[in-house]
Amino acid sequence: MSQEAALKAMPALKREVMHFINGHYVRSANGKTFADISPVDGTQIATVHEAGKAEVDAAVAAARAALSGPWGKMTVPDRTALLHKLADCIQKRFDEFVEAECLDTGKPYGDCSHIDIPRGAANFRVFADIVKNVPTEAFTMHAPDGANVLNYSLRVPKGVVAVVCPWNLPLMLMTWKVGPALACGNTVVVKPSEETPLTTSLLGEVMNEAGIPPGVYNVINGFGPDSAGAFLTEHPDVDAITFTGETRTGEAIMRAASKGLRAVSFELGGKNPALVFADCDLDFAIATTIRSTFVNCGQVCLGTERIYVERALFPVFVQKLKEAAEKLKIGPPKEPGVTLGPLISQEHRAKVMRYYKLAVEEGATVVTGGGVPIMPDALKHGAWVQPTIWTGLPPSARTNREEIFGPCCHIAPFDSEDEVIRIANDTPYGLTSVVWTRDLARAHRVAAQLQSGITWVNSWFLRDLRTPFGGMKHSGIGREGGVHSLEFYTELRNICIRY
Ligand code: NAD
Repeated sequence: MSQEAALKAMPALKREVMHFINGHYVRSANGKTFADISPVDGTQIATVHEAGKAEVDAAVAAARAALSGPWGKMTVPDRTALLHKLADCIQKRFDEFVEAECLDTGKPYGDCSHIDIPRGAANFRVFADIVKNVPTEAFTMHAPDGANVLNYSLRVPKGVVAVVCPWNLPLMLMTWKVGPALACGNTVVVKPSEETPLTTSLLGEVMNEAGIPPGVYNVINGFGPDSAGAFLTEHPDVDAITFTGETRTGEAIMRAASKGLRAVSFELGGKNPALVFADCDLDFAIATTIRSTFVNCGQVCLGTERIYVERALFPVFVQKLKEAAEKLKIGPPKEPGVTLGPLISQEHRAKVMRYYKLAVEEGATVVTGGGVPIMPDALKHGAWVQPTIWTGLPPSARTNREEIFGPCCHIAPFDSEDEVIRIANDTPYGLTSVVWTRDLARAHRVAAQLQSGITWVNSWFLRDLRTPFGGMKHSGIGREGGVHSLEFYTELRNICIRY
């Protein structure tokens, strides 16, 4: 189906994106709306209602009330069974979710149908199973008078959780937080990115279909500062805030959270390195680095923007990555063979293009790309950019230190293990890193010294959802994933019984 046909097939209701509060879709009382624009061709996909304080108040109040309703009284087996049913319901409407995500993000259809939407459903199943199976600790002791004492811990939900989301993997990253929040018995108010509200809105309908009680999942739409995002994170009746997005937005949200000392969990930006040693499996390293740098048009927080290659391999690596990058096919989501969609918006393209210009000003050699591709007339208003590779910049260049979040990377040679570890760690960020080597001892040695929340060895984006996920330094606060999510989404209490 073409982009135009997909838009026509979209029911009228879906083209007006409302808030989802207490189980119902509602418009803004202030009548304010904004346009949801396609990154593929610049056309308007939908009209979105922008929440004022009234809608944020209503959403938070609904979430608060739901905590003492049937949801709050539900047993863990019933609650987690309901989340499995919810995942089944997402699966039943799989095609609708894929269509909506492709419309909003412009990413290739295969990425949406193989990664984004399946993970959207999996996030509910995984955390339902974790919560159902997590044991509790217990200690026995004696009181001074010899009486028996049993201490055990009890996990209770945090309460109303604000979930503030980015646009790069909308359903997947939103459910990565809503899944564990609900599994632990919380209620949520979600603020999707203003760029990509469709799947978060659609999930409201699916919550109702699955029988999740009203008020458990609420959605308010709008922007960040002076809009829905700020109203939500400043709201005094929100108990905890979980956020994925840019580091400087995290700073603003942390200031908001400091009023009332609300807990925060932050998944932030990155400037992730790949360290390629000369003994690696070169073809596999190239094939994987093409994904880690260019998938989702480089708009993946875990993606690679800095590549360091052992000097002996450097010229061959650069040549092979260039050839592979030039084979990427740019185009709209459903065009056969397309591997690279547009950036999310014209605004983001302007930012990425500023870095393309800066890299040259800083003295980079452009190995490939560096500009805007020529697209057919129907797509000329899309946010297209060329996949780009640079060499020749020092580690101190801004191009090598600041997150660009586009389809681009810089490749530099290195001579020793110590040198490459030092350079790899020399940015304010610490989200992910990749090590390519066949030497097992070196893999362990290097991985242990890298300052990043995740280090992949001879792989990338292999995710086991039971593992801790998060960033060091400016890349995040806290860990989510597996039982680690429980640390944030519950309060752990101690009950001490003398008998
Ligand atoms: P962003 O920070 O611009 O926006 C994220 C969300 O925050 C949006 O919903 C936005 O409306 C809201 N927001 C903005 N200002 C706000 C404020 N003052 N108060 C409350 N809410 C506010 O991020 P983005 O551009 O949507 O996403 C891209 C960024 O996200 C990149 O930096 C990327 O690295 C990061 N990211 C990190 C991870 C991770 O797991 N670490 C995952 C995905 C994306």
